[in-house]
Amino acid sequence: MLTEDSRARRILSEVFGYAAFRGQQEQIIDHTCGGGDSLVLMPTGGGKSLCYQIPALMRPGLGVVISPLIALMQDQVAALREAGVRAAALNSALGWPEAQKVERQVRAGELDLLYVAPERLLQERTLAMLGALPLALFAIDEAHCVSQWGHDFRPEYIQLAVLAERFPEVPRIALTATADAATRKEILERLGLREARVFISSFDRPNIRYRVAEKANPRKQLLDFINKEHPGESGIVYCLSRATVEAVAAFLERQGVAALPYHAGLDSATREDHQERFIREDGRVMVATIAFGMGIDKPDVRFVAHLDLPKSVEGYYQETGRAGRDGLPADAWMVYGLSDVVQLRWMLEQSEAGADHKRVTATKLDAMLGYCESVECRRVRLLDYFGEAITPCGNCDNCLVPPEVWDGTEAARKLMSCIYRCQEASGFGFGAQQIIDVLLGKRTVKVEQHGHERISTFGIGAELDAGQWRSVVRQLVMQRLIEVDHERFNVLRLTAGSREVLRGDRVLRLRRQRAQALGRRKERRPVDTARVAPSGEAVGAVAGPENEAVYQALRTWRMETAREHGVPAYTVFHDSTLHAIATELPRSLEALHGVSGVGVTKLERYGKQLLAIVEQTAGS
Ligand code: ADP
Ligand code: ZN
Repeated sequence: MLTEDSRARRILSEVFGYAAFRGQQEQIIDHTCGGGDSLVLMPTGGGKSLCYQIPALMRPGLGVVISPLIALMQDQVAALREAGVRAAALNSALGWPEAQKVERQVRAGELDLLYVAPERLLQERTLAMLGALPLALFAIDEAHCVSQWGHDFRPEYIQLAVLAERFPEVPRIALTATADAATRKEILERLGLREARVFISSFDRPNIRYRVAEKANPRKQLLDFINKEHPGESGIVYCLSRATVEAVAAFLERQGVAALPYHAGLDSATREDHQERFIREDGRVMVATIAFGMGIDKPDVRFVAHLDLPKSVEGYYQETGRAGRDGLPADAWMVYGLSDVVQLRWMLEQSEAGADHKRVTATKLDAMLGYCESVECRRVRLLDYFGEAITPCGNCDNCLVPPEVWDGTEAARKLMSCIYRCQEASGFGFGAQQIIDVLLGKRTVKVEQHGHERISTFGIGAELDAGQWRSVVRQLVMQRLIEVDHERFNVLRLTAGSREVLRGDRVLRLRRQRAQALGRRKERRPVDTARVAPSGEAVGAVAGPENEAVYQALRTWRMETAREHGVPAYTVFHDSTLHAIATELPRSLEALHGVSGVGVTKLERYGKQLLAIVEQTAGS
């Protein structure tokens, strides 16, 4: 007879086609199969789903998965069915006859997994139906939705505590990718998970490469980035305003990038259509405000770009976390500049929020700025923010091309004196452009008009160029050593902090980014560094380069198959599986079964077709 452990591993391999468990998956499955409750904290892409899907297949009875996102539910059910699992969903998107059919299947014990929206579950009729059946488990996905302070709060989630009373014998497993301790506590309390074991994984996403660049010509920078590094691939571009979203999407479209806009100002049919196309089609770029993304489960998003500064590290981490869920290399790419800082600070000052709220928001923004200007490993910085200590990663811009740190005290003094002298000479202040022209000794019309060529700071800053001066200005503003008056033509002003620098009480270390030679060409294979996934497993060691022709042929086949079945392409096979096939070039069903992501059902369904493609395209 098989032990529980080997049964779980057999399901992993036969149904899902994977060779080994990741991280704590096996312990979690074990704990749930033994009837225990748990709270699972794992980053996006960490592999939460298997933690309840496998126990649901192992334990007698129906596994009930509560999920707030209907669109996501459909895709998960589609993916499970592709793998041969008997799954269905019950939610408001279903018509009456379809819902009837699902309920009939539930009653007849014909399902292993039922996905259900919380409001549907809480209807007495549903609870009564479930009460009459053997149940394997309840999985509560996106469990942070119980948190009243979080932005994903769903009132029905609080009522899920009723499950503990009505089904005391059924193990419950709550899952979330939200890391902080306060949310964790709230979940345990509100869901009545008193005895639950808490499983916390590392929140590191080693396959994501973090990069931050100075904003010069953002659209062109973005276009270059996409064309050079991600042509024809899926990505998300985040912008702050609806207007920017529209403009950037139209710009990309004109330049031949398949882009779609998404923001709360579009009607819901358009939003849905764009989201649907982004998820189903290969190589779409979604340009969006932060209204987009919750519950986007697309595994092959190759990059997340920020054209505007996010307001907090939490937000940034969540947004960038949507890249590379499949574990293949992905980029988190951002440009930011002085105007971002000025604008966000100004918006904050203008807001009607109370003093406490403003203070918290300002602190969060400062942490985000600190991240942008940091000279150390980005990942160290990010994870430190979430209370996790790691060593430098080797896969961020600062690790790959360490920025120079220089003593900017003298430069800062020159800049501050120049701000002061210009103001003194004219009786009013000036913006960065004028101050920099004066420092560089440029006799522009505006310089001469104000007689600034005659003041003592004219031409004292020739050792730096205009770009370097802008970077000094930005870093000083960020540290509040000077400020920008947003209401008066973005005039620069001295602050209390300026005095300290001018008096010589403060040494300034500034950052200088070296020319970025970070672009990576089409390198789609799993990162082959010594980095390991949260699990401890190497992120992917793959033999030899793949056969590009086979890979493209497989992609075309996948697209057609997905269309025929009316499912997203990735539910047929993930990119990583197609890479592996194009690399290993299997010639028999047996060899194909050894490829990660090819389970028994998919082998039966698609095996022959795949072998034919390899045969025809790779030759013999
Ligand atoms: P989460 O819900 O935590 O964001 P998922 O459950 O969607 O993550 O898993 C992320 C991806 O990793 C999925 O494509 C899944 O198939 C894959 N995956 C999960 N566990 C394993 C494993 N043990 N081996 C290989 N791939 C896995
Ligand atoms: Zn690093």
